[in-house]
Amino acid sequence: MKNSDYGLDGFLSHLKGVFSITVEDSRDIIKAFHQEMNLGLAGMNSSLKMIPSFVGPPKGTEKGRYIVVDLGGTNIRIMSVELDGKGNIDVSAVSRLVIPNEMICGTGEALFDHIAEYIGHFFEKHHIGGQKTYDLAFTFSFPIEQHSLVSGILIGWTKNFTASGVVGKDVVAMLSEALKRKNMGFINVVALANDTVGTLMARRYSDPSCDMGVIIGTGTNACYPEKTSRILKYTDPGTFEEIIINMEWGGFAGLKMNIYDQALDLASGNPGMQHLEKMVSGMYLGEIARRVIVDMITRGVLFCGSNLSALSGEYTLRTEHLSLVAQGSDFFEEFGITDVSETDRMAISEACRIVSTRSARIVGVAIAAVVTWMDKSLERNHTVAIDGALFEKYPGYSDCVADMLHELLGERAERIRLELVKDGSGIGSAVIGAVAASSCRHR
Ligand code: ADP
Ligand code: MG
Repeated sequence: MKNSDYGLDGFLSHLKGVFSITVEDSRDIIKAFHQEMNLGLAGMNSSLKMIPSFVGPPKGTEKGRYIVVDLGGTNIRIMSVELDGKGNIDVSAVSRLVIPNEMICGTGEALFDHIAEYIGHFFEKHHIGGQKTYDLAFTFSFPIEQHSLVSGILIGWTKNFTASGVVGKDVVAMLSEALKRKNMGFINVVALANDTVGTLMARRYSDPSCDMGVIIGTGTNACYPEKTSRILKYTDPGTFEEIIINMEWGGFAGLKMNIYDQALDLASGNPGMQHLEKMVSGMYLGEIARRVIVDMITRGVLFCGSNLSALSGEYTLRTEHLSLVAQGSDFFEEFGITDVSETDRMAISEACRIVSTRSARIVGVAIAAVVTWMDKSLERNHTVAIDGALFEKYPGYSDCVADMLHELLGERAERIRLELVKDGSGIGSAVIGAVAASSCRHR
């Protein structure tokens, strides 16, 4: 493809094709999704890890008070959460912090020491004290192989985390040791949750129709309850008929990557991994759009070749910038880009839309795959609990996911409700703590 092959309009329609997810593609993707789910549940090689979470859905009668720590890919949230046993959840204190870079890239010990310090500050700030012990539920948004509800080995970092000495280690033990080092040994870690599982549990506590949890933030992932008998690799006799499966769907490898995806993947810290995540989640959408825009400038279809260097830094264009564009604003001033013609402005807006639309359509296909796995002909209602800033804040994202579900499932898509559960990832780990405590009592 040479520059001369395209005018701007020609390039944009080419781009649409490159980023399209048709209904026909989707049928193949769903088939591949189901195959990978099967393999993952059987413990065979699969791009979907299908990790049992050692917890079943709550009844809504569980009670308790928990300190919650939610380590996401961008933010760390600490909360005090109380469940009243009647389906109500009270969040009485919340602290949110952006995770500093030195925590992401330093040593694991420093990472957990920082988390422990944040917990100490949280106790001070919200005047929490006076009890002999506190129960802490830990939401950890990275792939962990769980061996029990209170232990999990980090399989590998995602979302550009690199903290050393954590992969292969039990993250609960690391947090507990850090709490002791910081003189907070009176805090007991009683539950470890994946963020998707937390999100599902937070909604399910008061809504029995909720049977899927999805994260669309820095990264993306999903979970659903699976009959224990269908989890061939699961040998624990256990207490639950159903347990929640953390799919790690960001790893799904059955999507066709285009040249921009391939270049992004190659340049990333984890090439060959997390294909779906790299095409969908907030960490990457800005970077995909940046690569597209740079390509347009290089080909001479935008800016007449000027302004290229302003956008040459990897990951400088962020998904938040795409949100601005979708709201009719722009990022040009921040990047020192001047003299943008109306045509260029429209073209950039269209390029950003194409990239974000594909993300939402992939999420739609993936949700359809999971819901039809649970309920082939969609005979029941399904509430999908969704947390994450991309889903929450990107204009029109949720509608685009819903439109894809309609394209795929027709009227039956009405059975699927997409519900934002803000901070659900953290709140739900308190529900998990309470489910565990009540199942111990009933043993
Ligand atoms: P975490 O992934 O740490 O749990 P969030 O769910 O808040 O945290 O997701 C943060 C990510 O969401 C950011 O890295 C960014 O990619 C994306 N994001 C944040 N704000 C916006 C926005 N206004 N529009 C689109 N995406 C956003
Ligand atoms: Mg999160």
